[in-house]
Amino acid sequence: MNAQLIDGKKLATETRAEIARGVAALKAEKGVTPGLAVILVGDNPASVSYVTAKEKACREAGMLSREIRMPATVAEDELIAAIAKLNADPAIHGILVQLPLPKGFSEKRVIDAIAPEKDVDGFTPVNVGRMLIGDDCFLPCTPHGIIKLIEVTGMDLAGKHAVVIGRSNIVGKPVAALLSRKSVNATVTLCHTGTKDLAAFTRTADVVVVAAGRPNTLTGDMLKPGAVVIDVGVNRVPDATKEKGYRLCGDADFASCAEVASAITPVPGGVGPMTITMLLWNTLESARRVEG
Ligand code: NAD
Repeated sequence: MNAQLIDGKKLATETRAEIARGVAALKAEKGVTPGLAVILVGDNPASVSYVTAKEKACREAGMLSREIRMPATVAEDELIAAIAKLNADPAIHGILVQLPLPKGFSEKRVIDAIAPEKDVDGFTPVNVGRMLIGDDCFLPCTPHGIIKLIEVTGMDLAGKHAVVIGRSNIVGKPVAALLSRKSVNATVTLCHTGTKDLAAFTRTADVVVVAAGRPNTLTGDMLKPGAVVIDVGVNRVPDATKEKGYRLCGDADFASCAEVASAITPVPGGVGPMTITMLLWNTLESARRVEG
C-alpha cells in the first residue's frame, strides 16, 4: 500500500474534544446545555446502530441527548406533531429524524416540518438553499466531514479537479456544491448512473469522492497516480468468518486504490466518525446562536 491512511477516527476524536470544550464553556458562561433530539421510526438495524452511536457521542460531548422512538405503524401526523413540539422546546437545539423512514412516509413532508434553525442535519430546503447561495447555514454533516478529511491530507483544492460519484441529496449533490465554493475553488465533475465511461472522468481527478452505495465502484485502474480518495460507501457484504455474518466495505476497492492513491479513507473509520462529529458541531453552533 502506497497511500496515506486518512484517519477519520483520529480527526473525529480531536474535533469532538474541541466540541466538548465548547459545550463546557457554553454551560459555564450562559448556563446552556446544547440538546439534540433524535427521532427513530421503526427498527431498521442499521438505523438503530446509527442512532445509538449519535446519542452516545452526544452524551460524551456533554450535550443533552433525547431519544424519541416510534413504531413503524405510527401515523405521519403524529410524527409531525412530535417534531412541532421539539421545534418549540427551548431545551432542544437540534432535531434529527433518522432516514430512511419506513415505507409509506413522506420524507419530504417530515423533513420540511423541522424548523430550519434546529435542522442540524442541514436537510431542510431552507438550509440547502442557504448552502447553495453561500449564506450562513448548517452544513450537511457527511459533506462537511468530507471537506475536513480532504483538508487533513494537506492538498490545496484550488484549481484541482474533483470528481464526485453519486448525486443523492444527502451526499453527492451537497459535496459537489461545497467543493465548488469559492473558498475551496475546485473544478467539480458530478458523475452518476447516467455517466458514460466513469473511468474517463476519475482518471483525470485529483480527488475522487465516491458515494454510490455499491462495492467496487472505484478501482485502482480508474485513478490518476497520487489522487486522494474519499470513500463514503457503507456496504454489508456476506462474510462467514465474521460473528455477524457480514463485514463492512466501502464503494472503493481499498487494496487496488491504495496502491495508486496518495491518500485514502478506510471503511469503517473514515467518513462515518466525521459525520457524527459534524452533527455535534452543528448542535453546539445552534445552541450558541439561540442564546447569542
Ligand atoms: P443513494 O443510493 O441515494 O445514491 C447513490 C448515487 O450513486 C446515485 O445518485 C447513483 O446515481 C450513483 N451511482 C450508483 N452506482 C453508480 C455507478 N456505478 N456509477 C456512477 N454513479 C453511480 O446513496 P447515498 O445516500 O448518497 O449513499 C451512498 C453511500 O454512502 C451508501 O453506501 C451509504 O450507506 C453511504 N453513506 C455513508 C455515510 C457515512 O456517514 N459514512 C453517510 C451517508 C451515506
